[in-house]
Amino acid sequence: YTCVVYNCYFFYLYNSFIDELERVQKTNCFMKILTIIGARPQFIKAASLSREIAKHPYINEIIVHTGQHFDANMSDIFISEMQIPKPHYNLAINKLTHGAMTGRMMEEIEKIVIIEKPDWVLIYGDTNSTLAGALVAKKLHIKVAHVEAGLRSYNMGMPEEINRILTDRISNVLFCPTIQSTKNLEKEGFNNFDCKIENVGDIMFESALFYNDFNTTKSKDLPTNYILTTVHRPENTDDPIRLKKIFNALDTINEKTSIVLPLHPRTKKALEVNHIKTNIQLIDPVGYIEMISLIKNSSIVITDSGGLQKEAYFLKKQCFTLRDQTEWLELINSGCNQLIDVVNDDIASVVLKNITSDLDFSYPFYGDGSTSTKIIQALVNY
Ligand code: UDP
Repeated sequence: YTCVVYNCYFFYLYNSFIDELERVQKTNCFMKILTIIGARPQFIKAASLSREIAKHPYINEIIVHTGQHFDANMSDIFISEMQIPKPHYNLAINKLTHGAMTGRMMEEIEKIVIIEKPDWVLIYGDTNSTLAGALVAKKLHIKVAHVEAGLRSYNMGMPEEINRILTDRISNVLFCPTIQSTKNLEKEGFNNFDCKIENVGDIMFESALFYNDFNTTKSKDLPTNYILTTVHRPENTDDPIRLKKIFNALDTINEKTSIVLPLHPRTKKALEVNHIKTNIQLIDPVGYIEMISLIKNSSIVITDSGGLQKEAYFLKKQCFTLRDQTEWLELINSGCNQLIDVVNDDIASVVLKNITSDLDFSYPFYGDGSTSTKIIQALVNY
C-alpha cells in the first residue's frame, strides 16, 4: 500500500514538473515581441516577419489586430492564405474618425501591453494602428521597433505622413527599407537621437519573392491585355473633383487598353456617394497571391498605392502614380515610375504617350530579400 501511495505521489510530482517546464518554456522565453497590425499592407509585411520569428523557439510573438481593416477580403483572406498566425487579440476598432480611432486603439493596446509585458512592440508602416502602438509602448517604457521607417512624402496633408514622422521619432530601432529613407532620417537629425537606424531592405520585397512562387492562376473573366489600377488614397477619394477626373481619364484609357481595378471599400463608397459611373472593369479587392498574379499578367500599373508602386518594380512593370509626391523616389529617378499631377495634367495622355518597354528594373533598391532575418538579428543583438 505504501509503495502504491509513493508511486502515485512521484507520478503526480513528475507530471507537475513537466507542466511547469512547458509553461516556463512558453512564457519565460528569451524575447517577447508584441506585433501590432491592422491594415492590409501590414498583413503583407507581417507575414514575412512572423514566418521568421516562428523559426526561433525562444522568441514569442503575440499578435494584436486592431481591426482597422475588417472586411473578409481586406483582412481575413491575408491572414489565412499568407499563413499569418491567428492574432491573439482582435480589437475590432474601425469606422471611426482619426482621433477617435487612434484614441480607442491606445486605450485597448495599453491594457494588452500591461498584461503581456513584451520586450518589444513591433509596428509597421504608417497607419493609425502604427502610431497608437508606438505611443502606448513608449509611455510604458517598452522598446519600439518600427519596420518601414524613414519614409517621407513631405506632404503633411497626408495622415500617413503625420503617423510615420511621429512614430519614427519615438522608435528605438528604425528599420529603413531604402538608402533614401535612411538619408531622410539623417537629414532630420536622427543621428543625434537615442535610437538605432538600420537599412535592412524592404520587407515587401521579401513577401513578393516568397509568394511569387505560389499558385498564381490567372483570374477568369479578365482581358488578355489589361492595365492594373488601384485608387484609394484619401487625397484622391475624398475630393469629388479629383475622383471624377481620375475616373474620366481611366475611362478614356480603357477605350485603348482595358483597365482592371480591384475596388477599395473607401473608393467604392466615394463613387457611390458622388454618383460617378465608370466603364472600366471593377472587381472586388483580392488576396495577395491573386494580386501578385494580377500584376504579373498586366501590361502596366496605374496606382496611388505606396505598396503597389514597389510591387510593379519587383515584377518589372512600368508604373504611373496618381499623386504629387511619392516616398519611393528611387523609382522616379530610375524612370520606372512617373508621378501624375491629378489636377493639372491630362492623365490619359500622360499615360498613353509615355508607355515604354525601354526600362531597367535591375537595380536592387530594396535589398536582397532577407529583411526579416536582418530585423530579428538586430533585435536579438540590441
Ligand atoms: N493589394 C491586394 N489586393 C488588392 C489591392 C491591393 O493584395 O485588391 C495589396 C497590394 O498588392 C499591396 C498592398 O495591398 O501589397 C497595398 O495596400 P494599399 O494599397 O491598401 O496600401 P498602401 O500600400 O498604399 O499603404
